[in-house]
Amino acid sequence: MKAEEKSGSSSDKYSCKDICSKNTCAKDMCTKDTCTRDTCVKETGLRVYGHGKPVRLFVAGLHGDEWRDTTEILMKIEPPEKGTLALIPLVRKGEYTSTLDPAYYPVMGISILEAIESLNPEVYIELHSYSRENLEKLAGRDRLERIGVPAYSILKAGVLLGSVSPWIRRKYFPKEALCLSFEIQKGNPGSREFAASMLEVLKETGSRDEFVEYLKKEFPKQARKAIEDYRHFYGEI
Ligand SMILES: [Zn+2]
Repeated sequence: MKAEEKSGSSSDKYSCKDICSKNTCAKDMCTKDTCTRDTCVKETGLRVYGHGKPVRLFVAGLHGDEWRDTTEILMKIEPPEKGTLALIPLVRKGEYTSTLDPAYYPVMGISILEAIESLNPEVYIELHSYSRENLEKLAGRDRLERIGVPAYSILKAGVLLGSVSPWIRRKYFPKEALCLSFEIQKGNPGSREFAASMLEVLKETGSRDEFVEYLKKEFPKQARKAIEDYRHFYGEI
């Protein structure tokens, strides 16, 4: 609905069919059943607000049906007061490959890599979503032993905070970058709302340290864990 309203006045908007016939949509976004106006590439591809440093990049809808609970959050964000905010509201829908799979970023997540290479963001945020029954898998203490990456911390309203995949962290970002992944609980409006409020803070954040200070104040336990995970990954801070 929102997308329709926005498209009303502007002559450079196309119907989704137009876009698809021009081959600018990712293949799996354009089958008749799933290609709806509000998930067009024209609406959900990379958009960049503001200019100069710091540069933040937020991405959502990375795989499977996760766009359903995350894409809209990025579509609604307003430009930042200072610096640059780049958004990819929908990276890829359809098939599901984990971001822990080395093939994710070079294939499904290629638009993320391209954006990182052209923008060099110092703040990088991924928005994922999870089903309630998978909470233990994501936030259980044994996650590190099980799959080699730290467990997520539970923040509030079912929103989980964690690190991004080592496949992107190590190769594409300097140590001092802030790279975080949020997991939003599927079908939980409060979870979406809280995640959106975290992004409001993050979109004005100037540096990793600035956000860590904020986190320490608001969520001391989770901040401690985030710092520990970071040390574990880099051996220092
Ligand atoms: Zn995900």
